[in-house]
Amino acid sequence: MPERFKTVLLFGAPGAGKGTQGKILGKIPGFFHLACGDVFRSLDMTSELGKQFLSYSSRGELVPDELTVQMWRENMHAHTVLSLFKPKQDLLILDGIPRNVKQAEALKSSIDVLKVIHLRCTDESAMMLRMRRRALKENRMDDADERVIRHRFDVYHAETHPVLDFYPPATVANIDAMGSPAQVFQRVLEVVIPVQDAHFNRPPS
Ligand code: ADP
Repeated sequence: MPERFKTVLLFGAPGAGKGTQGKILGKIPGFFHLACGDVFRSLDMTSELGKQFLSYSSRGELVPDELTVQMWRENMHAHTVLSLFKPKQDLLILDGIPRNVKQAEALKSSIDVLKVIHLRCTDESAMMLRMRRRALKENRMDDADERVIRHRFDVYHAETHPVLDFYPPATVANIDAMGSPAQVFQRVLEVVIPVQDAHFNRPPS
């Protein structure tokens, strides 16, 4: 079996700030951030997979597991071949996948999950506000419709939240997702720096 990617999962409800945190982290050498939703949104929307993505995401549904996992594998392979992701040097920060227990099972042979960062936000109205702002900024139609947003929360509670029980309890780090991006980022760093220290040899400075 090829070596599994050393991975930290960014986990949380829609609007909890996974993407914001992941993007900042991905700018730091030694971290490679991949957001499943971003990969889907970068597809050619006239392709078969692009059309499937649009039809599911516009209803607030998950894209079927097999398609999602296959797309994820191809994407990781491409990034690795191009040396954009260097598994021996980079900690993989995954965001938006696995999104249900079946996906977690499917990814088991490919990723070694060292930590799950659970961005917790008990204030759903605050998250909905973030999403409506994002809809305007990023032109995301799945963020614009109140009913679609509601449905995404329902899917999160029913399908995604149980993924937390898939991993050993000691792996899960609960982080308060309220506050400014910088404040939340500080909490995220407190979790990921020790993971990076423990699993990667730093080049001598
Ligand atoms: P958010 O975190 O705000 O829910 P994402 O950008 O992660 O948004 O995902 C947008 C949409 O892309 C999802 O609603 C879903 O339709 C699809 N999607 C993203 N990741 C997955 C996944 N792992 N499995 C199935 N569908 C996914």
